[in-house]
This record gives sequence, structure tokens and C-alpha cells, in this order.
Amino acid sequence: MNYVLKKTMNFIRECIFKNKSNERLFTRVGEIKVECRVKFVDVKFPSVAASYNTNLRRVIVDLHMARNTSQLPEAKNELMSALYHELEHAAQEGNLGPQYTKQRTKPFSRPVETPTDFDTPKSSGYVPAGGWVKYYFSPWEIEAYVVEMAKLAKLQRKPLADVFNERANEFVNNGHISRRQADMLIKDWQAYAETRGFGKKRQSTSR
Ligand SMILES: [Zn+2]
Repeated sequence: MNYVLKKTMNFIRECIFKNKSNERLFTRVGEIKVECRVKFVDVKFPSVAASYNTNLRRVIVDLHMARNTSQLPEAKNELMSALYHELEHAAQEGNLGPQYTKQRTKPFSRPVETPTDFDTPKSSGYVPAGGWVKYYFSPWEIEAYVVEMAKLAKLQRKPLADVFNERANEFVNNGHISRRQADMLIKDWQAYAETRGFGKKRQSTSR
């Protein structure tokens, strides 16, 4: 998995230096094809849109960033989150091979509160089918978000709880969910993170 990120970052650097936009990189993780597209646009922060197609067994990652090396660290965070998120969806479908499937232990079953107010607050732009609240609270998304945030916390050497809070705040600020729903979502994330053994303090750092 790390080699995909490394390869992708090298590819982006090359695109910056050669001033090539709209380029694609094709890599693989096991049987999963990973297609990364980089487009240089005049933005303050890099952003990534990603999806997993289970029939094609393909992850597509679209990165938009300024043609500037100063945005590379943030682009790396965004890419890593997106890749782990989508590959977790591949693992959910059993498409990622036995080693990965073994790590998944039990699927998320909600032991805590579920919102009953499924209405998404007013937000502009894209809204997933069924609305943002249903999307974030679906077991599949809870699992994928927890995995991506656990990896991100590790990369940024931050406590997982901080990453959970930041992300939930982002969803509130985007108008996707209410504050109350965000607090419930964090509880669901914590419950699932525990079943995967994420966010525990490590005794040894000799790795
Ligand atoms: Zn997802």
C-alpha cells in the first residue's frame, strides 16, 4: 500500500516539474487497479475526489491542486486518506485478498445511538443519494472513514481522537450534518476503531 502512495507522490512531483496537467498514473494493490489523475488548478488547498467501482475492481482518485510543491504535503494527506478509504470499500466486498479481509474482524454493528433526524441540513453542491446523514452513518462509510483517519493520524502523528473531532467539525461546517449528529458519529467511529485496535497507545515505537 505504501508503495502506491510513494509512486503516486513521485508521479505528482514529476507532473509539477514537467508542467503536465491531466496526467494519469495506473498502479495496483493486489487485484485492485488504482487510477490516479492529477489536475493543476488555481486552488489554495489540494482536494481529492475518489470512488471504488466493485465491478471493475478499480479505485479512481482525482487530485486537484496548484502547480506548486508547497502543496505536496497536504496533497499527500488527501491522497492517503482517499486511497485507504476506497481500498477499505474493496476489502468490504472481499476484493482485496485474504490478508486484508482477515484484518477486518467483525463488520461494524451499531452499539450506540443512531440519529432519527435524517434530514440533511441545507448545503450546496453534491448530495449523496439518501442525504449526507444516511451516508455518514452507514456501516460501510463508518468503517472506511475510521480506517482512513487511523492511517492519517499515524502519518501526522496525531491522536486519533483529534482527527475524529477535526473531521466531524468539517462535516458540520460544510453543512452536511448537525452538531448533535456529529457527536453521535464520533461515538460510532470510536466504537468501530476499538474493534480494529486503532488509536491505542503504543508501548513500543521500535518499528
Ligand atoms: Zn466511502
